[in-house]
Amino acid sequence: MKELEDRIVQDGVAKAGNVLKVDAFLNHQCDVELFDHMGAEWARLFAGERIDKILTIEASGIGIACVAARHFGNVPVVFAKKAQSVNLDGEQYSTTIYSFTKKKEYPVIVCKRFLSASERVLIIDDFLANGCALEGLIEIVESAGAEVAGIGIAIEKGYQGGGDKLRERGYRVESLARISSMNDETGAITFA
Ligand code: 5GP
Repeated sequence: MKELEDRIVQDGVAKAGNVLKVDAFLNHQCDVELFDHMGAEWARLFAGERIDKILTIEASGIGIACVAARHFGNVPVVFAKKAQSVNLDGEQYSTTIYSFTKKKEYPVIVCKRFLSASERVLIIDDFLANGCALEGLIEIVESAGAEVAGIGIAIEKGYQGGGDKLRERGYRVESLARISSMNDETGAITFA
C-alpha cells in the first residue's frame, strides 16, 4: 500500500535493535484517515472471505482493528488483553507470548464468551516481526474451535521471517507494507 509506505518513509524512524518507530501516525498518535484507508485495503484483499469477527491485541492493534471493522460490515472487534484484571471474569483462553519490543514474556487473554466455534476470525495487528504475537492469537482462535480466515498486518518486517513461517503453515497473511531492510545509521528503509 503505497500511502502507508510513503508515510513510513516520511515519519517512521529506524531505531537500533531492528525497531521501527511509527508513533507519529500508528501507535501513539493515530492518523485515523490513514487507518480508514488501511481498513479499505484489507477489505479489498479479503473480499470474498466470510469474516465474522476481528481479533487483535492491546494496545496498538485496537485502533486499526476498530476502523477496519467499519469496512467488514461492522463485525465485532475483540482485543486480547495482556494482563489479568478484576474485569476479566468467566472462563478464558490464555497463552504466553514473547514481546519483541519489551523483550519479555506476557500473557494474552481472551474471555471464552467472545470467541465461538464456527466463527471465521480475521486477525489484525500493527507489526509482524518474528511472529510470536500472531502465534499466540492463532492458538487462542484455534483453541476456541474457530477458524483463522486471514491475517491483516500493517507493517511486516519481512527479513525477520515471522510472516513466511506463517504462510508456510498455510495462513493467508496480507501485509500492507513489507519492509525488506532497515538501517538505523542512515535511516534508509526499503520495501519488498
Ligand atoms: P513479533 O511477535 O511478530 O515478533 O512482533 C510483533 C509485535 O511486536 C507487534 O505487536 C508490535 O507491537 C511489536 N513490534 C515488533 N516489531 C516492531 C517494530 O519494529 N516497531 C514497533 N513499534 N513495534 C514492533
